[in-house]
Amino acid sequence: MSGFFDTKIEYLKGVGPQKAALINKELDIFTFGEMLQHYPFRYEDRTKFYKISDIRSDMQQVQLIGSIYSMETIGDGRKKRLVAQFRDETGAIELTWFKGIQWVSKRLVKGAPMIVFGKPQQFGRKISIAHPELEPLTNKQEKEVNFQPVYPTTEKLRSRYLDSKGLSKILETLLPLVLPKVPETLPFSLCQSLSLEPKPIALKEIHFPSGHQALKKALYRLKFEEFFFLQLRLLKMNLTRTETFRGKVLDKTGLLTKFYKEFLPFDLTNAQKRVIREIYNNLKSGLQMNRLVQGDVGSGKTIVAFICLLVAVDSGFQTCLMAPTEILATQHYEGLKDFSEKMGLKIALLTGSTSKKNRAIIHEALKSGELNLLVGTHALLEDVVVFKQLGLAIIDEQHRFGVAQRAKLWGKNTDFYPHVLVMTATPIPRTLAMTVYGDLDISVIDEMPAGRKPIQTVHRYDKDRLKVFGFLKKEIEKGRQVYIVYPLIEDSEKMDLKSLMDGHESICRAFPNLPIGILHGNMKPVDKDFEMNRFVKNETKIMVATTVIEVGVNVPNASVMVIENAERFGLSQLHQLRGRVGRGSDQSYCVLMSKYELSKDSRVRLDTMVRTNDGFEIADVDLKLRGPGDLAGTQQSGITDLKIADIGRDSEILVQARASAQSILEKDPHLNSQENKPIADQLSRLKKNEMNWSRIS
Ligand code: ADP
Ligand code: MG
Repeated sequence: MSGFFDTKIEYLKGVGPQKAALINKELDIFTFGEMLQHYPFRYEDRTKFYKISDIRSDMQQVQLIGSIYSMETIGDGRKKRLVAQFRDETGAIELTWFKGIQWVSKRLVKGAPMIVFGKPQQFGRKISIAHPELEPLTNKQEKEVNFQPVYPTTEKLRSRYLDSKGLSKILETLLPLVLPKVPETLPFSLCQSLSLEPKPIALKEIHFPSGHQALKKALYRLKFEEFFFLQLRLLKMNLTRTETFRGKVLDKTGLLTKFYKEFLPFDLTNAQKRVIREIYNNLKSGLQMNRLVQGDVGSGKTIVAFICLLVAVDSGFQTCLMAPTEILATQHYEGLKDFSEKMGLKIALLTGSTSKKNRAIIHEALKSGELNLLVGTHALLEDVVVFKQLGLAIIDEQHRFGVAQRAKLWGKNTDFYPHVLVMTATPIPRTLAMTVYGDLDISVIDEMPAGRKPIQTVHRYDKDRLKVFGFLKKEIEKGRQVYIVYPLIEDSEKMDLKSLMDGHESICRAFPNLPIGILHGNMKPVDKDFEMNRFVKNETKIMVATTVIEVGVNVPNASVMVIENAERFGLSQLHQLRGRVGRGSDQSYCVLMSKYELSKDSRVRLDTMVRTNDGFEIADVDLKLRGPGDLAGTQQSGITDLKIADIGRDSEILVQARASAQSILEKDPHLNSQENKPIADQLSRLKKNEMNWSRIS
């Protein structure tokens, strides 16, 4: 049956080898099945008619009923054009042709009622439609299809009559052949409970909708199905892994209790407690753990990691903590050394710059099992690093490590897999995490330690600058320090640098008695360090800088962040920048400066920043605005295979699809039941397709 869908498109009536070769090359479409999935990206709504008096030149497309009352050919040679006056009861416009003039003029009939369709454009004081589509009125009324599909195509295809219309003709021929053979891929009960359209109907309607409602239902059905199979496969992977790899049972709590009683420096937040419980339940369950811990910067992931390490060590296993850079690894080591020594744990640091001699000592201590905790960079992954028995591996800042590196850690033991915990400070929306990390369980630290005051964020226009300066002055008088950040991007580097310098100058003028520093990427490293140190030591009160301050610096006394031209920054960058303040006990502020005229997206970004400090909420909005393409980790996740569903815009459908997949797998993990046969069949079809792909590429 699937063989039929593999039929080459050249065998379709009206296509043939030449057009087929072109479509292969331009659209990467080879078979009936692939052609069927070449979905329109929008529809021209031919259900609505406009009056000429309503037309504005910024309308995308309009459809009119009226008649031609005069026409003439103007100019000659290259400038020759045919102009017809077209009117209805409300007014008149021009229709213009620059090409095919003879052909058109023979077919234009004065006075007969017609339908005109096209894009209005302003020429001087007149509105005109160039190369409109024309149809006699009577024909149109008999047609039932009122939505015209618009298909993705290319310049080359267009020049060979394979524009959207041409592709639509191909699909018109294809659909009656293939639709009767399209198998239902979802169980009947699921379709019924969610009122999903049968697949063949959805496919028909997506190409040639019979109305708004029908199109909506078709879109829902097809998007649901894409998400459903994506999620089902991720969940199945997870299931297979936990069935195949029994995890070691890590359940001892002696060390942990001692740590809580004697050394815990603060009360854990409820979120930290919950996440520790989730991890502990996983560790003691006998099922191998693969878990992602998400928590905004400063949410306290390190202590959570350490507490979990204690459970593993207590249960007789070794542990490791891997960070992406030497600085971060060293910071972790310094932070945990004290705790470890108090708890009688042996800890070591292994990075690229560990001396040969120390390396040898560490390798020995690992092999003998004497070393309890190894902190380091990807130096940990080298083959010479061999543990006696690694029970728990923790990776900090996962997004900088690939899946392959994760797998390498798993392989550190020959006879069993360690539990793996991945920590990330880059909040990604739940729906995206479900997919990018769909094979991981997810824990979220969604609460900041007590005593931190949320940063107050305001949006001010450039004309309010004097007031903003007044506010800065007051904060500085209270003893605080201030960042003022300017955008600097490669495309407009020169101009940006100039506005930074101008800004610095005007700030120096506005605060004549204050020490003010400046920091940007074009400075020499020594100068940068010098400026940064002055600010850290509170010798400068204001730091005028570019986004170079985004990472790394920690100045708790700096409590105001002013971001100039805030409309030019992306949301995640604004959030990262704002994270530079709010690190001390004082109330912190973020002031977003912008010009008055803003694009819709810019306004949404700024409003979002003002509304919330929650990195997850911000990431959600960011995903909606930008789509998933730019976000980390999306490449291998299957998102790029989605043809019609969109993780950002269709998140509700995604959540529903995942829930459905989950409940089906809970009842029937191997999809053996008769009811679930359509799913099992579709899974094996999808697998087969992938194999074909791997053979081609
Ligand atoms: P991140 O999640 O960014 O890795 P850290 O683990 O570095 O955050 O914690 C940030 C700071 O907050 C550290 O100084 C840490 O000691 C402190 N901290 C963590 N948890 C708590 C808590 N429950 N109460 C108070 N301070 C905490
Ligand atoms: Mg951290």
